Amino acid sequence: MSLPAGVQRRSFGDEDGVLATRGEPAYGEPVVDGWRRWDAHRSKLGATFELGLDTGLSGGDAVLYLGAANGTTVSHVADFAGPTYAVEFAPRPVTDLLAVADSRERLFPLLKDARAPETYAHVVESGVDAIVQDVATRGQADVALSNRQFLADDGRLVAALKARSEDVTADPAAVFEDLLGRLSDGYEVRATARMEPFHEDHLAVVATPR
Ligand code: SAM
Repeated sequence: MSLPAGVQRRSFGDEDGVLATRGEPAYGEPVVDGWRRWDAHRSKLGATFELGLDTGLSGGDAVLYLGAANGTTVSHVADFAGPTYAVEFAPRPVTDLLAVADSRERLFPLLKDARAPETYAHVVESGVDAIVQDVATRGQADVALSNRQFLADDGRLVAALKARSEDVTADPAAVFEDLLGRLSDGYEVRATARMEPFHEDHLAVVATPR
């Protein structure tokens, strides 16, 4: 699995081979020679790279990022990707996200609900190369399905599915099976991996549109 251009493995102190991107620091992360440490324990997409999944991201890609929160992960994405549309529906983290976007001219924060793609369809270009999804909310498969319209035919969905967001009591394996079944209404699932030890009870999914 190759990393996108613009993502490298660098040394930070006595730690070698740590993911990093080049850009303005965003959340107090260590920076060495302009390279920002990208901690897979704080980022589902970072963990997806560490787990070796082929995300299809190559660098310079147009990305629709769903569940941007305060911009921790999407700050790294905007360092290596092309236009990056960052959807987040909670106003407080969006305040931080706006600050992160200040130094990133390709990052476009959108205070929107990812369950209502019609509210940002006039902003997001159609045919994005990737949807990166980390919404941690009930109905994660439906969010992916309703945003599929933005994805290029050869694009990828790169999602982190959180079992407890769907059902706190159910066996995570059963929740993931159900979510993958629902995703198959609009996507062909190419690869999955449980995200431990980086993120408990999460499943990384790479899928292509049907
Ligand atoms: N991806 C972020 C990162 O790595 O930096 C962390 C995302 S956090 C796990 C999940 C985020 O999804 C929260 O900030 C939450 O407000 C947001 N979210 C949940 N449901 C959403 C929805 N329907 N539309 C937009 N954002 C949503």
